[in-house]
Amino acid sequence: MSTEQLSTGHPAPWPLLDLDVARQRARGHRPVPFRQFILKIQSTCNLSCTYCYVYEMADQGWRDQPRRMSAATVEQTVQRIAEHARAHDLRHVEVVLHGGEPLLAGADWITGLVQRLRAEVPAEVAMSAQTNGTVLTPSLLRALAAHGVRLGVSLDGGAVATGRHRLLPSGRSSFPRVAAGLRLLNSPEFRDVYSGLLCTVDVHNDPVDTYEELLAFEPPALDLLLPHAHWGSEPRAGHGEWLIAVFDRWYSAVRQETSVRMFEELIQLVYGAAGAVETLGLLPASLIGVDTDGSIRQLDSLAAAYDGAAHTGLHVAADPFDAALDHPTTVARQIGADALSDACRACPVMDVCGGGFYPHRYRPGAGFRNPSVYCADLKRLIEHVSARVLGDLARLGTPS
Ligand code: SF4
Repeated sequence: MSTEQLSTGHPAPWPLLDLDVARQRARGHRPVPFRQFILKIQSTCNLSCTYCYVYEMADQGWRDQPRRMSAATVEQTVQRIAEHARAHDLRHVEVVLHGGEPLLAGADWITGLVQRLRAEVPAEVAMSAQTNGTVLTPSLLRALAAHGVRLGVSLDGGAVATGRHRLLPSGRSSFPRVAAGLRLLNSPEFRDVYSGLLCTVDVHNDPVDTYEELLAFEPPALDLLLPHAHWGSEPRAGHGEWLIAVFDRWYSAVRQETSVRMFEELIQLVYGAAGAVETLGLLPASLIGVDTDGSIRQLDSLAAAYDGAAHTGLHVAADPFDAALDHPTTVARQIGADALSDACRACPVMDVCGGGFYPHRYRPGAGFRNPSVYCADLKRLIEHVSARVLGDLARLGTPS
């Protein structure tokens, strides 16, 4: 136990001890059903990425997990998703396969799960997997295509950028393997399976070079992820300027080369429209996870905060997903501005920023009611995007 835990008695008093869920409900907050289910079907991975929150950060719970989700846990999970969809009359749910490396489970295992979900869940089920891209083969992609499973691939840029962190167990870069996998995925036969790239920002890499290296793989969409960090981590700097450089390159292109979700989201929010992702804005989160052993988990990336931060104490064998709706962390992720610190509530860009991604707000010994550790970067980026977008609208004479 860390010194902060010893001094406060709890690593995250807010929200786990101090958020009064009953009071929030009495004030009119209603739980929002889960619509996105992250299933950690495989706890092992064939890479050893230096920044991986699963293997390299505070929560080492993966060591106790089964290698792969058992058939019994798969069935319980399918039935719980079906039950939740039925109870809340959901028309559409999204199931995302994570790991470890989910594709290590193999084509037959994955398509078996997809068939069970589509047979049991009374809603449209959109299926995808987040992969490191090193195990893609024509037969695997053919099977995924036949079952409508799309793939997002994690890649940090070209050979140098990817070689910094995304490593084989031997310590060599994973880039050559991923590049070969992406060329296959981007071929006409499999292009429909390709949902996009996920890049974790590293300010040591040139921003525009990184963006253009990613563009070379023609991603239908690009997600830029700030590295997992909080107020107890090593100080970080330069992410705002890095993102601004990529934004300017993306926004100034004569034709849209790819969809960059973070920037599109920011533009929507700056323009006053509702957002759609948990990392920005104030919309209630609707994502929940199931670990390989069937434990119901909050955002997996909370593992970067402290050991057990993603735990709910619930399990698909015994508990419906509805039970997780009243968990203080879920409530904190669904009550918008009421979950934010005084500094955020007084902030002129609060509606756009939303206090930043929930795990980035963590301060050891206090919990999650703090501005994002990336506060200065987010403010700078939002102000820049606002100035460019609203400036352009004003020049075009369009009311903002
Ligand atoms: S910019 Fe900083 S203070 Fe403003 S809402 Fe975001 S995290 Fe909070």
